[in-house]
Amino acid sequence: MENKKDIRALTQEQLKEFFVKNGDKAFRGKQVYEWLWQKSAYSFDVMTNISKQTREMLEDNFVINNVKVDQMQRSSDGTIKNAVRLYDDLIVESVLIPTKTRTTACVSSQVGCSLDCRFCATARLKRMRNLKPDEIYDQVVAIDNESRLYFDRPLSNIVFMGMGEPLMNYNNVLKAIEKITSPEGLGMSPKRITVSTSGVPKMIKKMADEEVKFNLAVSLHSAIDEVRTSIMPFNANFNLESLREALEYWYAKTRNRITYEYVVWKGINDGQKDIDALVRFCRFAPSKVNLIEYNPIDDGEFQQASNDAIDKYVKTLESNNIVVTVRRSRGKDIDAACGQLANKKV
Ligand code: SAH
Repeated sequence: MENKKDIRALTQEQLKEFFVKNGDKAFRGKQVYEWLWQKSAYSFDVMTNISKQTREMLEDNFVINNVKVDQMQRSSDGTIKNAVRLYDDLIVESVLIPTKTRTTACVSSQVGCSLDCRFCATARLKRMRNLKPDEIYDQVVAIDNESRLYFDRPLSNIVFMGMGEPLMNYNNVLKAIEKITSPEGLGMSPKRITVSTSGVPKMIKKMADEEVKFNLAVSLHSAIDEVRTSIMPFNANFNLESLREALEYWYAKTRNRITYEYVVWKGINDGQKDIDALVRFCRFAPSKVNLIEYNPIDDGEFQQASNDAIDKYVKTLESNNIVVTVRRSRGKDIDAACGQLANKKV
């Protein structure tokens, strides 16, 4: 293809400069920027307050690499999964999760994932590339549109819990969040956004230094190094001590409660020593533990623990003043639940 630039890789300043250089007003840059971000225009043709001549000039110089929802599946519980095609034909998935009062978008940050969590379907896809800020933004816009269409309300929350490890695509994830929260974009409050990480200590500290305003969730699954490494092998490089230290730093800077995602599996982390280790791990900062249901992805190597084991977790955490919730899976029938995103063809 010709050498056209991705127009959404430009800042508003750069767009203004482009117009000035081409003998137009800087103001034109602002107008086009609004079309691109606030109004999510995916073609220059729709920019009706821009002259035809200018639109043609934009067409000659730039492309808009918008994503396309290739396939939409609806679960019996109302959950919607989008297979999203990127400009280079790679696919990622995003999920709309409705409750009585909320619509949450679960978005992807990478094509595939470079981590190797043994219980996660996405881990079986090779990481192909990082998503660009506008590709993350477009997933959110698509879900916002679906929320308005099917549930008569705008999107209310965003979780970075789709495919990929957001902190391994840190700059683009932050740029996307900046646009999502900016009045020049969707104007959403960062308090309604949660970034979930398997725990990359260096990046958690960087986030703390930058005083980000969104929430942090950590996929912990075990507070014992040996166990965690056996199910999340990268833990051998970023062990629990360095994770805890980074989280302590995060809490000292942000004073934001930390949420842990945690699945209890039979014979892996369902014993008293596992619970005690979790309680000890959580002690340094106000914490919330989401006990999430296991969504089977394979031959039965991993099995959800018994209700008794889960009850024991709940009781012990509560008696140690740790907030705990037991979360039911959503969208299981369409492979849209946690850990099931794997671009499965239907
Ligand atoms: N890489 C980031 C973002 C992905 S979030 C992270 O790990 O946090 C996806 C969440 O689903 C994580 O908490 C992950 O541990 C969890 N998960 C993965 N596979 C799962 C499965 N089969 N059942 C339930 N939860 C799973």
